[in-house]
Amino acid sequence: MLPVLLRKGESSTPTHEEILLLTTDGKETCENTLSRAPKQKACVEALLNGELLLTQAKKQFGSAAVKALIEKALAHVVEQVPVFEEARWVSTFNIAEKPVPDTEQSVAIAALNRQHSQFVVSLLEGVTGSGKTEVYLQAIEPLLEQGKQILILVPEIGLTPQTVARFERRFNIDVGVLHSQLSDKARLQVWQRAQAGELGIVIGTRSAIFTPLKNPGMLIVDEEHDESFKQQDGLRYHARDLATMRAKLHNIPLLLGSATPALETLNNALSGRFSHLQLTKRAGGAQSTYQHVLDARDQPIHYGIAQGMLTIMRQHINAGNQVLVFVNRRGYAPALLCHHCGETVMCKRCDKPYTVHKSLNRLQCHHCSGTRAMPSHCEACHSNELVTAGTGTEQVEQGLSSLFPGVKQVRIDSDSVRGKDKLHQTLDAINRQEYQLLVGTQILSKGHHFPHVTLVVVLDVDGALFSADFRAPEKLAQLVTQLAGRAGRATKPGEMWLQTHNPHHPLLQDLVNNGYRHFARHALIERKAAGLPPFISQFVIRAESTDSRLAFGFLKATKDVFEQQHAIDIHGPFPCLIEKRQGRFRFMLVCSHEKRGPLHNALRLTLPFLQALPQALKVRWAVDIDPTDFS
Ligand code: ADP
Ligand code: ZN
Ligand code: ZN
Repeated sequence: MLPVLLRKGESSTPTHEEILLLTTDGKETCENTLSRAPKQKACVEALLNGELLLTQAKKQFGSAAVKALIEKALAHVVEQVPVFEEARWVSTFNIAEKPVPDTEQSVAIAALNRQHSQFVVSLLEGVTGSGKTEVYLQAIEPLLEQGKQILILVPEIGLTPQTVARFERRFNIDVGVLHSQLSDKARLQVWQRAQAGELGIVIGTRSAIFTPLKNPGMLIVDEEHDESFKQQDGLRYHARDLATMRAKLHNIPLLLGSATPALETLNNALSGRFSHLQLTKRAGGAQSTYQHVLDARDQPIHYGIAQGMLTIMRQHINAGNQVLVFVNRRGYAPALLCHHCGETVMCKRCDKPYTVHKSLNRLQCHHCSGTRAMPSHCEACHSNELVTAGTGTEQVEQGLSSLFPGVKQVRIDSDSVRGKDKLHQTLDAINRQEYQLLVGTQILSKGHHFPHVTLVVVLDVDGALFSADFRAPEKLAQLVTQLAGRAGRATKPGEMWLQTHNPHHPLLQDLVNNGYRHFARHALIERKAAGLPPFISQFVIRAESTDSRLAFGFLKATKDVFEQQHAIDIHGPFPCLIEKRQGRFRFMLVCSHEKRGPLHNALRLTLPFLQALPQALKVRWAVDIDPTDFS
């Protein structure tokens, strides 16, 4: 929960900071000397108005420019003990020009303004592009003016420089940013400044929920349905749930925003536990995307794409528009098998097929990340006829270049865009229309808007329709809806096609014809009938070991302890959806009860007994409260 440097003993109050100052030479530089170095010139001009934090100067003008000024002895760095000032931002606070909220936005903003200084959780359910961020901006305005701090959580991939800039520009204040790629030092600084009350706004990913605030005013969780808010290992927590607890402790409002709220959240809103605010129209007149199902049965399939789909794609490409193709797997193909005997090449540590990565000319296991060279023949029968099965992004990319020769194409997945900068550069290039065909994974569904995309293609939705995970339909519906929301604008309405071999599946039909709002409400009725969360509470105990009997035995003993002492429902032990990973066999026990209180009580009372079980030290085990994923 603490920044690394604090755990290593660094003080929680700052001891020194580096500031950048002009030297005497620097103060006297005339304009012309730096005319060929505009960044250095801008930095000098800023420094003439006063010193800057070194980190701030580097961020604003680039490290190269700062370094050059220091080398030319025009600027120098000194260390000083920083003085933090509570609510310092109020002195520069200034509200930039802003759009007039529409009726629904006004209703939401007014409702939020009535909730200051009390614990209320609100769900802002607004279709993508309906102006949720605009509501956040206007709702926090009066709080910032009073010197209160705002903490905003966003999904890992949704934290773009544009998001941060939007908040900085609107209020002319410095925004503290926290994400996983920050240096330890930078992370500590934001933590210290937030704790001292100096930062008005802190925006961060999951773990930013632990940022201390001197004068908390409001917490916001944007895209609250996003799976990245749940930490699945080490300290397991859901940032949204912790946000609820924090808001309650501070007695302040919590705002949850999403176009596709998690069923848990939606249920709380519909049952009246949360306040429910809705935005049903896209802001600024942008049109919504029409959704359709493409029946792939009996059609020729090229590189995973049905003939009929290719025809539609061609129309959009010929019209000069962008087409986005979503594929749920990276790599070339999810398996390599022998054409002669059918043997699949498996990762021995996970008992799962290797994914073929042609660009690396290697096989990679997506469960343990282990890789191996591409085999030349089958290990079972020595045949050299090895064929791939299934389709990943690499293969679709390759296929599309032969199907649409000359059409500029880009692939966006975690193999092709490593690091945030590369991703943002690629996304900018897309919006400059340097590419016409975009192929990619989940990354495309989060946060970014593609105004020139008029067609979104989703290949293979069938996997999710038949998954063993009861949340798979919810996740598919969120993905499809988020993807649809990426496309289209006022002058160019978009369309979306879902390729399937089950065109009449009720879930697809409901989603396509009635949208997420309807789908989600219907899915809640089904969950209730089936006795599944959020209508019951759950926790899972997972155990893993290289010896499958040990892991299984531990959970069997655990089950016995529970059954002797408590009336809760226990299922298992059964293998996790990923039965084996990195050489360890994995099992789980699913425990549930209608009410959270008795369930947690049972767990609290039983834990000491579990810790005392003879197998407890021999297997790796962990409790996961409100599990969201059964892998
Ligand atoms: P969301 O957060 O729901 O995706 P945004 O707040 O980013 O939506 O709004 C989408 C776009 O519409 C942005 O470009 C925003 O500036 C614009 N917008 C939002 N509200 C209004 C409004 N009331 N009038 C005009 N434009 C608006
Ligand atoms: Zn073989
Ligand atoms: Zn593996």
